[in-house]
Amino acid sequence: SAPEPLLEVAGLCSGYGKIAVLHGIDLRIGVGEVVSLLGPNGAGKTTLLRAISGLLPLSSGRVRFGEVELAGTDPRVAVRQGLVHVIEGHRVFTQISVTDNLLLAGYDLPRRERMQRVEEALEYFPEIAAKRQDKGGALSGGQQQMLAVAQGLVQRPRLLMLDEPSAGLSPVLVDRVLGVVRALKARGTAVLLVEQLIEKALAVSDRVCAMAQGQLVLEARADEDDLPHRLERAYFGQD
Ligand code: ATP
Repeated sequence: SAPEPLLEVAGLCSGYGKIAVLHGIDLRIGVGEVVSLLGPNGAGKTTLLRAISGLLPLSSGRVRFGEVELAGTDPRVAVRQGLVHVIEGHRVFTQISVTDNLLLAGYDLPRRERMQRVEEALEYFPEIAAKRQDKGGALSGGQQQMLAVAQGLVQRPRLLMLDEPSAGLSPVLVDRVLGVVRALKARGTAVLLVEQLIEKALAVSDRVCAMAQGQLVLEARADEDDLPHRLERAYFGQD
């Protein structure tokens, strides 16, 4: 049976100033569902995440999250509702400790609650937990990227949107990040995952959506038999 709806995007159009990039996107994600968002470079994946999280204004369309209409609201409203976007290539603070980086992510929470959530987030990333007193800048690039994901977890997302979390990571760290996606799903957290590593993304996903030229061109279950073939057609614009 289909999970209870969490995110419902309808007729979403957005872009940069006068440049229209997204042309009427409809997308639904259920509670605890993991959805991969695939598509070639420039298809509009990053732009869609920005539009959903409120970093970009919509020219039209709706973004309903739980009981709340987010279109036209401040990005902080989305975060408060549990819609958390870890942006592509997010940079952590290099001059303060790992722990302080995480505490900052929960700046608006009471101190005890913050400490508890930081510990919770660190449980997912043993490599970082072992370096919690070190400065952010002392972590490897891959570890800094994981710290950025951990900062998102401090917000206790109901839906976590990850934009190419594996970019530039070693295979071990890629598996760590995708393992976190699995663990989040097991706890009922939904994930919208933009990934270039298609097979690895599909292995942790319930469903897949593919974009091309600012439109959704494919929606399927991640375990569908002829998915590779359909994806290829979607990527090359013959679908
Ligand atoms: P990638 O995998 O390369 O990140 P993507 O699918 O995330 O690709 P977007 O980054 O969303 O694609 O880009 C979609 C379109 O929007 C592209 O044509 C891109 O040139 C354009 N675009 C992206 N950022 C801006 C910007 N700041 N100003 C103007 N146009 C932009």
